[in-house]
Amino acid sequence: MKFVSTRSGAEPVSLSEAIAAGLAPDGGLYVPEAWPNAAIIADGAGLAEAAARVLSPFAEGDVLEPEIAAIAAEAFNFPVPLVPLTDRLAVLELFHGPTAAFKDFGARFLAGAMTRIRAGASRPLLILVATSGDTGGAVAAAFHGKPGVEVAVLYPKGLVSPLQERQLTCWGGNVRAFAVRGAFDDCQRLVKAAFGDKDLRSRCDLSSANSINIGRLLPQMTYFAWASSNVWRAHGEKLSFVIPSGNLGHATACAWARTIGYPIGEIVLAHNANRAMPDYLESGVWRPRASVATLASAMDVGDPSNAERLFNLFPNMTALRGAVSAHVVDDAAISARIKQGYAEHGQIWCPHTAVAAETHARRHGVGRWAIAATAHPAKFREIVEPIIGESIALPAALAALMARPSEKVEIEPDLAALKHALLS
Ligand SMILES: *Cc1c(COP(=O)(O)O)cnc(C)c1O
Repeated sequence: MKFVSTRSGAEPVSLSEAIAAGLAPDGGLYVPEAWPNAAIIADGAGLAEAAARVLSPFAEGDVLEPEIAAIAAEAFNFPVPLVPLTDRLAVLELFHGPTAAFKDFGARFLAGAMTRIRAGASRPLLILVATSGDTGGAVAAAFHGKPGVEVAVLYPKGLVSPLQERQLTCWGGNVRAFAVRGAFDDCQRLVKAAFGDKDLRSRCDLSSANSINIGRLLPQMTYFAWASSNVWRAHGEKLSFVIPSGNLGHATACAWARTIGYPIGEIVLAHNANRAMPDYLESGVWRPRASVATLASAMDVGDPSNAERLFNLFPNMTALRGAVSAHVVDDAAISARIKQGYAEHGQIWCPHTAVAAETHARRHGVGRWAIAATAHPAKFREIVEPIIGESIALPAALAALMARPSEKVEIEPDLAALKHALLS
């Protein structure tokens, strides 16, 4: 299996080469060159076993091929409950990993793959990661203490929740946190600029742990494959997903899982007020823009990177509109849905999950549906607690982080400032 760039200029590479590179040399994103045929996940298979089955074909012929099962077993060692709300609707809880957001899946798999790829490398590896809140925490936790790897996390100052900030800044050792005076899009732009900087590249090997890295996205196919297989075996029906969307990595992984044959029905993208994708589906004009701050801050992305991968998979408007739909939920509706979810179902949703729940409520699609619950509500307790009028208990892993000291460096949103901070 080879991986090619979404743009035209790069040579096809193997999985480990694509993971090590992050971004393709022509500035595009790596995508699989071909699509293997999926087999329904067997009854009783655990998530790690499902991951090995889904991911092995993508590693065929690569040095990672014999390692996939072990990486999956290390990475996917926490539960993924599919909690029924009604007989047609369930919540797929993706927040039971160590940093309480679905980003743990991709980050932990990537860390396992990257440390194996880099074993015996002569130069240090610097992983640059831009985060709107949850990615950075998951990547920091996954790579903390791993030999031969340095991590630099860039996050928008003042635009992440206090608990998220703690998760970014509490590590020390090989993980450094940079509070960028700007928005998430500035962080993302800085990472891309750093990749293009010859001087920096001459000093160390660079890679990215953002969802531009294929090593983050492929493992996210696993739970879509697993949940849809379980529903298919039990009911003979496809499972449709509503996905809280920002950088569109999650949505891309779901579309890939459906492309290789998992029984997934509709894919509905649930956006907050950052509406580049919904507007595009309506107008046919791609107009990335500055992000706006919302209650669902991990989805505050004005220029979603993985749109490029979706456009690659669905290369014209007819194909794209047939493959996904996208909807917008404003902050007032997020609050109202959090309140209603608690009153009606006894569920406490984070703002991102609420965007998906609200989107589902408006759409009323036929068939079986799952809302992807992307973060534990405790990560956004400042928002959720006043709405439901109760306090939310912290998961044990998050509580432990709150006790650690916190350290960060503030920088201007330009490459010179980042380089200075990185190299000092
Ligand atoms: C990252 C994130 C999203 C958005 O996922 P994308 O892959 O960027 O579209 C949604 N919810 C939460 C909690 C997140 O951390």
